[in-house]
Amino acid sequence: MATRDPVGFLRSEYEQLVNNELDWKLRELEGPSTPRCVVDGKRVLMLCSNNYLSLSNHPKVKQAAIDAVKTHGAGSGSVRPIAGNMDIHMNLERRLAMFKGAEASLVYQTGFAANAGLIPQLADAGDIIISDELNHGSIIDGVRLSKADRAVYKHCDPADLKPVLEKAEEHSPAYRRMLVITDGVFSMDGDVAPLKDIADLAHAHGAMIYVDDAHGEGVLGAGGRGIVHHFGLKRDRVQVEMGTFSKAFGVVGGHVSGSRDLVNFAYNKSRTWLLSGSHPPAVAAACTAAIDVLETEPQHVRNLWENTNYFRKGIRDLGFDTGKSETPIIPVMMGETSAAKRFSSRLFEMGVFALPIVFPMVAKDKARIRTIMNAALTRGDIDEALSAFEKIGEELRLI
Ligand SMILES: *Cc1c(COP(=O)(O)O)cnc(C)c1O
Repeated sequence: MATRDPVGFLRSEYEQLVNNELDWKLRELEGPSTPRCVVDGKRVLMLCSNNYLSLSNHPKVKQAAIDAVKTHGAGSGSVRPIAGNMDIHMNLERRLAMFKGAEASLVYQTGFAANAGLIPQLADAGDIIISDELNHGSIIDGVRLSKADRAVYKHCDPADLKPVLEKAEEHSPAYRRMLVITDGVFSMDGDVAPLKDIADLAHAHGAMIYVDDAHGEGVLGAGGRGIVHHFGLKRDRVQVEMGTFSKAFGVVGGHVSGSRDLVNFAYNKSRTWLLSGSHPPAVAAACTAAIDVLETEPQHVRNLWENTNYFRKGIRDLGFDTGKSETPIIPVMMGETSAAKRFSSRLFEMGVFALPIVFPMVAKDKARIRTIMNAALTRGDIDEALSAFEKIGEELRLI
């Protein structure tokens, strides 16, 4: 008779997380994700959603989803390579490629599925993947699925990337392919990768570049076209531009843009694309409508930046440190974990919803409240948030 409890770890490991206050307490959003919304029964100002432009509630985006259910049904019926490739999916990819100014685009079910499916195909045994040390978890998992050698360079530091590339170029036997991967905008600090310098270096050493622009789309570049436009980079310098419809586009879905060769390769090779059901028609249609809105209503991106500059200045003027933030992701530094947690729960009591980011997601003494600005917040909303930060900051003697 075995004495081992085969599932005892489920509870013990969960309890360990709870004891260390590292478990996720799920908040419940009652109704749509809007700047003023209801969370756990309380009316709050939303300061931590990725719905930067509030497109998830845009009438045109919602209507496109409703119409697609009526014309195409609730589901697609299959994976795309078999019987689940609808005109609605192809249309989205054509629209996205036009928006990005790329030869072709490919849509995955999620951004996570794009990274996990494509990265291990771009580089495998005999190749090397070179990553920024703070890249997103979905990139890390994509890299783990590859048999390629790995190297890491210091966060956003081309001077540190250079010797890594030089060493890789001298490797014996010579690597077949070298792949440099970076987030475009980093989600914990809101800083922007120096993509031009990284791309120039990669080019000089014959490496290809993969940028994950999940937090740059709808934010950076003309009309929110993303980081490649922001730096005015040519497509032959940034060969793989990956992104998501789950953030500024307000829906869900991952995507990759680049050359026709890249897209042909990606959909034939990515197992997450080949073996997982395609988007419901409503999702694909809503994503297409979100692109239309970005192209026809430039005020959303403009409002986002006005709000970002106003809030960041306000927070800094109060005496808080916003770290390296250059984008609508604005961390408000708190120091210790306990301070950040206390601050966040006081904010919630005062009707402001913004979560603490603490160790192990960031260094032990770099706990923060991560705020994310939104185009649909009014000046009055932002002033209200600022006065809550001021009051609690004084109360907890942080400013
Ligand atoms: C959110 C995010 C992803 C995952 O995108 P989903 O479409 O939500 O799966 C990937 N990379 C980065 C940098 C992200 O911030």
